[in-house]
Amino acid sequence: MLAVPRAKVLAVTPNLYRDGRMATLARLAQIPVLELSGVGPATARALAGAGIHTVADLLHHVPHRYLEAEGTTIAGASKGAEVTLQGQVKSVRERRPRRNLLITEATLGDGTGTITAVWFNQRHIASQLEPGAWIAVSGVVDIFAGKRQIRVRAQRRLADGEHLLAEEEITPVHSQVGQLKPWKIAQFIRQALKRSRPIEDPVPVEFLATHGLGSRDESFQNIHFPESMSQVPHARRRLVYDEFFRLELALALQKRRRLEESRGVAHEPTGELTARFISGLPYELTAAQRRVIGEISEDMRSPYPMHRLLQGEVGSGKTVVAVKALLDGVEGGWQGAIMAPTEVLAEQHFLGVTHLLADAGMSPEPYGGGSRLGMASLFDSDEPAVRVGLLTGHNAAANYDPEITRAQLLFDVADGTVDMLVGTHALIQEGVDFHRLGVAVVDEQHRFGVFQRIMLKEKADGIDPDLLIMTATPIPRTLSMTLYGDLDVSIIDEMPPGRAPVITRHLARAQESAAWDLIRDHVAKGRQAFVVCPLVEDSEKVEAASATAEHARLSAILSDLRVGLIHGQMRPADKEGVMSAFRAGEIDVLVSTTVIEVGIDVPNATVMVIEDADRFGLSQLHQLRGRVGRGAHRGTCLVISDPPGEEAQKRLAAFVSTTDGFELANADLAIRGQGTVFGARQSGIGDLRIADLLEDFEMLVAARRDAFGLVASDPELAGQPALADEVRAMLGDLVEWLFVS
Ligand code: ADP
Ligand code: MG
Repeated sequence: MLAVPRAKVLAVTPNLYRDGRMATLARLAQIPVLELSGVGPATARALAGAGIHTVADLLHHVPHRYLEAEGTTIAGASKGAEVTLQGQVKSVRERRPRRNLLITEATLGDGTGTITAVWFNQRHIASQLEPGAWIAVSGVVDIFAGKRQIRVRAQRRLADGEHLLAEEEITPVHSQVGQLKPWKIAQFIRQALKRSRPIEDPVPVEFLATHGLGSRDESFQNIHFPESMSQVPHARRRLVYDEFFRLELALALQKRRRLEESRGVAHEPTGELTARFISGLPYELTAAQRRVIGEISEDMRSPYPMHRLLQGEVGSGKTVVAVKALLDGVEGGWQGAIMAPTEVLAEQHFLGVTHLLADAGMSPEPYGGGSRLGMASLFDSDEPAVRVGLLTGHNAAANYDPEITRAQLLFDVADGTVDMLVGTHALIQEGVDFHRLGVAVVDEQHRFGVFQRIMLKEKADGIDPDLLIMTATPIPRTLSMTLYGDLDVSIIDEMPPGRAPVITRHLARAQESAAWDLIRDHVAKGRQAFVVCPLVEDSEKVEAASATAEHARLSAILSDLRVGLIHGQMRPADKEGVMSAFRAGEIDVLVSTTVIEVGIDVPNATVMVIEDADRFGLSQLHQLRGRVGRGAHRGTCLVISDPPGEEAQKRLAAFVSTTDGFELANADLAIRGQGTVFGARQSGIGDLRIADLLEDFEMLVAARRDAFGLVASDPELAGQPALADEVRAMLGDLVEWLFVS
């Protein structure tokens, strides 16, 4: 019966195009839903609430399930069967047997018999059941008080002269949008399809053939109104491909454009500094570290700016790789920068880098007393030294001058005295002038966007410095191919030798004494422990206060041990004092805020206790766990929490079940949903309405290959104007600056 045209509505509503051209998604993306008959301002507002603004949006609102029912006559409808039947409305009644129960009953007749159709709590249904009208209803047949009735799950008004065939009827069920009933939405979609089909197919046929995909036009029809359920997966595959293909095209174009418009630095490292640095390390690089170092130096030698994501688990040794990249630049006379998302992390990076350089004998002798005379330049001295500065909103420090002032540091950055500057976003703000910035390392991608990239370019006098983005957040390949899709990716997928996975246990608050017993145990064997206090969103002050209180409480509980305290509100010198005491083994238990999340490296620490662990995200928990078990002794991580909800419970269960960061990242994606993982809108992932990153991963890989291949051979999509239009229309936000015409 679906083949029978819905004559009534269609007769009065012409094609959405009056110019005779074929409908394209690009054009449908310009047509507001208000153009559809039956959609007024209130309906349009409800649709907009679900992100459905245009006819194209509406077509992407696909059913989340389908009701399959045998079409039957009323006489043939037997108890227990799920059927679809048609009938004329004879009469309508409403009853309220209880306060919160509304029952609507309609007697339907089709000439073979009558049946009562029943709806529960559907306040608006009665007004839509006009006596004399023909409707189709789907649902389960039951006997109630000796009479047959059908409990309606979906209904539709039939057009004049429309007849149900005695065949399978499939009713799509769209998710509800605001107050709009699903079947209303189906009606609008039916109209939209009718008035726009056939929809043009701009995807090159060779791609469709390779993947065995059907036509776009039929796929839209079949996903919304299939004649047989076997059509649905086929139609879905095609639409999933289209979504990924568009997104990947946008990313490929973005990358292309960036390369074309850039003025990069072709670094020409001599190898002197880096050879010294590497041979000065107290360990051998892992194969993975050597591989990514190779990838990075190749990028840096090329005249195109590097734009590379360096991924690696906590403790996989990213810092060495980053410092090696900066040294490549410094060798050729360029300056390097490291940017961290917070002051605390910037300070830690500063310490980390200066320690690494000191280990390799490449730290300058500090010049005290402000005397800057006699400062040897890098290559004049027998002992090459690298001058590192720290600049945050509040602090300035330098490894070559312990008493440096902020003004002096800025001066040294501007005249090239400073080889590497570590800091927060302060680095790319007013008042900071680099002499010759050639390479920048950014810690944690998602706080560094297009805008920051432009600022960085300004700092480098219009040159695009090579950019290395480090992240310890394991990013599933699904996301590195979408969210980070225009970056090159290097992965350190190997841990330094001799690290056994950390043992992880979840304790209820009532069991916390087990944690303190375990700490005593480890301390008795000469080890050390961290206790991390609850996260307080956006308030280092409150966090510091709670850490101070927890320090007092634990000092009493563990009165036989030496309990220390560190938090973000302490002065850097004090923090460094506590850290050195901890490193030196003068403190057994360090109570801290998340200050220690990144960068703290004390191989003798083997216990990590995380309090109120449900307040932390999975990736943060994973970071914290990475702080123990870094040395010869195996680590244990105890999470104390009475999880307040199901999501927190799932998160903790996932955390306990694996130490593999990529697995955790996938779990995170599954728990939180792809839309919310990393600010969806900016990523284009929010535009995926049909595709599922985890489920449709293979299709994503295929679409990415096709899209990048196409852009490689046709960088402007000159041969594919319809595709280019579509990408622009559908992913405008993502690509608005791609097509400057
Ligand atoms: P990440 O920044 O990736 O979390 P780090 O760079 O802080 O990791 O390194 C973690 C620890 O591993 C540091 O103590 C570092 O000295 C050590 N390390 C790094 N690379 C190696 C290696 N190849 N062999 C042994 N230890 C290493
Ligand atoms: Mg590190």
